[in-house]
Amino acid sequence: MAGSSLWVVGLASLLALPGIFVSVSVQASPGDADPHYITCVGECQNTGIIGSNIINRCQSRENGSTSAGSSWYTQEALRMQWKQLNCMTDCRYYCIMRREEERRLGGLSPVQYHGKWPFKRVSVFQEPLSAALSALNLLMHLTGWLSFFLLVKYRLPLRPQTKRTYYEYAGLWHIYAILPMNAWIWSSVFHTRDIDLTEKLDYSSAVAVLGYSLILTLLRIFNVKEGAARVMFAAPILAFVTTHILYLNFYELDYGWNMKVCAAMGMVQIVALATWAGVTRNPSRFRLWVVVFGGALAMLLEVFDFSPYKGYADAHSLWHASTVPLTYLWWSFIKDDAEFCTSTLTLVKKAR
Ligand SMILES: [Zn+2]
Repeated sequence: MAGSSLWVVGLASLLALPGIFVSVSVQASPGDADPHYITCVGECQNTGIIGSNIINRCQSRENGSTSAGSSWYTQEALRMQWKQLNCMTDCRYYCIMRREEERRLGGLSPVQYHGKWPFKRVSVFQEPLSAALSALNLLMHLTGWLSFFLLVKYRLPLRPQTKRTYYEYAGLWHIYAILPMNAWIWSSVFHTRDIDLTEKLDYSSAVAVLGYSLILTLLRIFNVKEGAARVMFAAPILAFVTTHILYLNFYELDYGWNMKVCAAMGMVQIVALATWAGVTRNPSRFRLWVVVFGGALAMLLEVFDFSPYKGYADAHSLWHASTVPLTYLWWSFIKDDAEFCTSTLTLVKKAR
């Protein structure tokens, strides 16, 4: 058993390690440094015309800036800012599509623009596949949590005096369920419309999920049931995660640093779960192994990035696809754990 758990830890660390060294450069990309692209965007923003497309948002730019004396928060100023933002986004999109078509005809491979691959839009969706898969992940968490809720509330025996569940982690899992659901909502919004606000909400929500699930994983693995001990475990991680979210939102959205923080939290969790899966008597430990290895393998999709196939399916969207079955398995593991802990406690009671 010890040998196999060591092997598990070794492989999980190996799979998770590249995540630590990956850094995402978002500011400058080869595509947006191209003079043809820069000229195209400039002309489009001035005239509102690009090829056969007419962008109304750019044509009615009025004087191009908010009227003198009006504050940035007045309704008219906000409307103008929103219009200019949409004009810029549309111009960039059409210029990217034009440049990519020229590159394709010239036998060149796709390049990134402003830190992102060129994606084909569908209706209002900038990255339709990632947005749809984020919604599917949300649905998987919702159904997973609902079936967990029904299990602990109605199907498993309750304590005779208090009528509360025997499973001591039920409350923590209920709170946990809110965080990934929130994160997948913002992920769908971000992949639909990429602006500063949606990006920060997506990143912050994802960090919150990683931080809370790390706390919960450690509490479960070390069987921490007493309130004060739980606070001792949670407090340093909670303080770190809160500071990190504040840093990203109000100081600097540093992609490279954020990636390191997320990879480190993910790796600690994967190594902890893999070790536990190797030593626990929990009957559904095999499910846990699949989640751990599946999760580590899925992380590779974030490391080995590639351009979107047919303009839709890139590595990031495949990563969102991979988390769909993993989420199903994760919630079935949580349900099995609730059943296992309940049966252990009720058997101990009967034996007395
Ligand atoms: Zn995403």
